[in-house]
Amino acid sequence: MNVLVLNCGSSSVRFQVIETDLERIAQDRDRCLARGYIERIGSLALVTLEATGRPKRIETYPLRDHRAALDQVLRWIVASDSGIDGIGALSDIQAVGHRVVHGGERFTRSVKIDAAVLDGIEDTIELAPLHNPANLKGILAARELLGPAVPQVAVFDTAFHATMPETAYLYALPYSLYRRHRLRRYGFHGTSHRYVSYRYRKLRKLTREKVNLITLHLGNGCSACAIKGGDSMNTSMGLTPLEGLVMGTRAGDIDAAIIPYLHQKEGLSVDEIDTLLNKESGLLGLSGLTNDMRELLDEEREKGDRRARLAVDIFCARARKYVGAYLAELGGADALAFAGGIGENSPAVRERITRGLEWMGLTLDPRRNAAMVGGKEGEISKAGSRLKAYVIPTNEELLIARDTVRTVLGAPAPARKARARAAK
Ligand code: AMP
Repeated sequence: MNVLVLNCGSSSVRFQVIETDLERIAQDRDRCLARGYIERIGSLALVTLEATGRPKRIETYPLRDHRAALDQVLRWIVASDSGIDGIGALSDIQAVGHRVVHGGERFTRSVKIDAAVLDGIEDTIELAPLHNPANLKGILAARELLGPAVPQVAVFDTAFHATMPETAYLYALPYSLYRRHRLRRYGFHGTSHRYVSYRYRKLRKLTREKVNLITLHLGNGCSACAIKGGDSMNTSMGLTPLEGLVMGTRAGDIDAAIIPYLHQKEGLSVDEIDTLLNKESGLLGLSGLTNDMRELLDEEREKGDRRARLAVDIFCARARKYVGAYLAELGGADALAFAGGIGENSPAVRERITRGLEWMGLTLDPRRNAAMVGGKEGEISKAGSRLKAYVIPTNEELLIARDTVRTVLGAPAPARKARARAAK
């Protein structure tokens, strides 16, 4: 089955075409046939397209909206000169899998999209006003362009975290706010944490129940996840993706009293404070230079920039704090796994996060750590390290394609016991 995987942002569409089916899943033989990225939708859009094994094409088109962007993607996918293996017509795409950011408490696993599911995703817009509307636009555009007969599946970023216990997902706010607004921790990057957990158990030849792991997804957005028995028990992002680790432009954890304080001292409105915390903080805010970790590491190394160093130090210290907290919460774990642009590519950041953790049984192997870059997967701790460390390049698209196939064929992955419960 050829699955079109779509990840629609407010002004962008990321896609892959993945060939997979139950047999390929069992044998790990899924194939990415093509991938691409459209940015700046709404003006002169930049379109990057790549059929596997062919050179990358970068073109510009005026693309008004998500429908126009998807139309452009589909035209390219079926064009004879694209060179995509096995695809010559729209009918060669048999299903579409969508990344949907927020599933609220309602969606605890991937689902086939129908009118009720569309309503449910719409109902969660309040919880993800920046993300869910774009995901919906992608779903509607795909239905219009491919026709209602092509099944579509929603894979939720929040779903993996549905197994968190109340002690992890409730805030210490008046309980009535949870009852009235479902105000609680949901967590995000769930498909990434689930993928990393899956690869870890494959690498170590474990059953899912034996996976006791802390995953660190460190990209422009960052989150940590505490996994026990294969289930998410806690994660650092909260009601929204703002909470937790220091990120490219997001502050992560702060004292909530800073919000009224900023209002009083700087005269900022709630919206302005929201922008400050989400877009002007994190690595960018601390360094005053950039949200890009690679550039900060270069500044630090080449120019000895004090604030670049400070930003990286605070980023690493916050990540280490979460590792410690989650180890305590889980009653120990067997390994840490790094993923995301920073986690997969920066031996320096991995070393700084884990520095000084030998006392609790983690010793990195400098040679293995230095070699594990550019998409390589494997162990970076020393042989005999009690707490192991791995680099596992994430692949959310692959899980979305697999979930799509399983859901369409009525062979869903084994259910996890969702602990979310409707309070009275
Ligand atoms: P992502 O959001 O997962 O694409 O990750 C983006 C982040 O990964 C940016 O901060 C990049 O600077 C960072 N990154 C990518 N490659 C490297 C590298 N070789 N060293 C350090 N950071 C990197």
